[in-house]
Amino acid sequence: MNELATRRTLAIDLDSVLADTMIIWAEEFNKRNDSSITKDNITSWDISKIFDISITEVSDIFTYIWDKRWGDIPATEPSIGQIVSNLHNKGFRISILTKRYRSSVSNVINWLDLHKIHCDDLLFVYDDAPKTAYPFDILVDDAPINFSDLSHPRIGILFNQPWNKNFSWPVRIDNLSQIINII
Ligand SMILES: [Mg+2]
Repeated sequence: MNELATRRTLAIDLDSVLADTMIIWAEEFNKRNDSSITKDNITSWDISKIFDISITEVSDIFTYIWDKRWGDIPATEPSIGQIVSNLHNKGFRISILTKRYRSSVSNVINWLDLHKIHCDDLLFVYDDAPKTAYPFDILVDDAPINFSDLSHPRIGILFNQPWNKNFSWPVRIDNLSQIINII
């Protein structure tokens, strides 16, 4: 059998799984609002419910940081590129699966290059198609909604972030290096 056909596909979300985007989002929010929030204060998926900000502003800051500050966005852990390569070397096909505005695509690619992150494919979702519509065996994501119609034998691994702490899900990780203990 073709070697590729036997590889399991590991789909990895970008924002808040590979890229710790909300650290820079919080910095930018503080600049604009003379405040001092951190990522840890973002305890709800709906940011407009915790801070005095509209949904449009939430997304404007997001767009701005991927446009102008993408180089400042840290990875969620040091040597993230090496960790992803290790997973690939262990036999996984690496699929980066990210839902976003088209305007951020080129800087996402720049960011992945900067952090030397291997991928076997890179899927940008522009519309409301659920992530479960895409081919993978395992999905790592910080957004519980992406697991809502996930069914056996596919596996969803929730990446711990302050906004998903109250969601009940059995399989969680704090960093990508922990995946290998699960799959
Ligand atoms: Mg995400």
